[in-house]
Amino acid sequence: MTERVVLATRNSHKVDEVRRILSAHGVDIEIVPLPDDAPDVAETETTFAGNALLKARAIAEATGLAAIADDSGLCVDALNGMPGVLSARWAGRHGDDVANLQLVLGQMADVPDGRRDAQFVCAAAWVVPGEREQFVEGVLEGTLAHAPRGSNGFGYDPIFVPLGYALTTAELRPDEKDAISHRGQAFRALAQVMASR
Ligand code: IMP
Repeated sequence: MTERVVLATRNSHKVDEVRRILSAHGVDIEIVPLPDDAPDVAETETTFAGNALLKARAIAEATGLAAIADDSGLCVDALNGMPGVLSARWAGRHGDDVANLQLVLGQMADVPDGRRDAQFVCAAAWVVPGEREQFVEGVLEGTLAHAPRGSNGFGYDPIFVPLGYALTTAELRPDEKDAISHRGQAFRALAQVMASR
């Protein structure tokens, strides 16, 4: 029988993306959307992996099913790795992408080229109740632009230029971004772990 796994997100794009990646790797599972009454899990850990595991454990416990969760963000070298796990609420309000981006740009205003290195990081966790817990990470290296460019993507995409590219991730096509992104890498790695169990 096909195993059922809950994906701990209310973002339907993420559900579709994960479904695509797992099935492309031959992982035979049914991705179940998060039930409406599932708990909202606060991301209180200090690492992406810690938060991904925290969410997957809580959803596995609430549903009794295996669960997958992820946590991601932007780490800027000149800001000692911040915003990091605080990326979604860096300007004070959860999910205010424009304010978050403007705050980072302001903080980086006097930082010259050559010291603008940054990474997008994503951790993905898989918890099978009473059986196993596993996490993987994906990292996309890049630099920060001096002004926003492009309208694809979300969050910090308009200021993130991947290593080896001239365009920001907001100027790349979605499939081009997926092929190199931290999230794509993490979920492809998770698919390999799940396929080889
Ligand atoms: P999460 O939903 O808790 O993983 O928070 C992710 C936050 O990190 C988002 O709100 C964005 O601010 C940022 N972030 C993560 N991945 C990306 C990306 O691919 N592009 C742009 N911003 C991202």
